[in-house]
Amino acid sequence: MSIPKGESSTCIFCRILRGEEEGTFIYRNSKVSALLDIHPLFEGHTLVIPNTHYSDISDVSPESLTEVMRVAQMISNLMIKNLNAEGINIMHSTGRPAGQTIFHFHVHVLPRHTGDDMEFQRWWFSRSHRASREELDALASKLLSK
Ligand SMILES: [Zn+2]
Repeated sequence: MSIPKGESSTCIFCRILRGEEEGTFIYRNSKVSALLDIHPLFEGHTLVIPNTHYSDISDVSPESLTEVMRVAQMISNLMIKNLNAEGINIMHSTGRPAGQTIFHFHVHVLPRHTGDDMEFQRWWFSRSHRASREELDALASKLLSK
């Protein structure tokens, strides 16, 4: 069963924010909250979410997005200081093809360590290619078309 896009009454994050489900908050202010992911990729894997229900990157308010990223930076610095993180990935998914499963805007903050077996760079370089100038110019025109 899928959660309808934009439905806050059944949204698990809204339910956690309302105290109807358990969550481990590590930060909360009037606009955003940070909680530990219940399926952590790494120890300390944190989600930063707006306290208001937005579905994804297409509808999150600029103010909430700014605050989410400010808090993601704060959490990153805590991971570096207190979990000895050697690196950080900040990840977001919008839409099912991108892997979004909870349709309440959120950003993952992932503490990274040497040899932690998330072979992000290998995957990246195995998938990407060197684009030609013509290809990039054509794509830029398409992306910016009215
Ligand atoms: Zn929600």
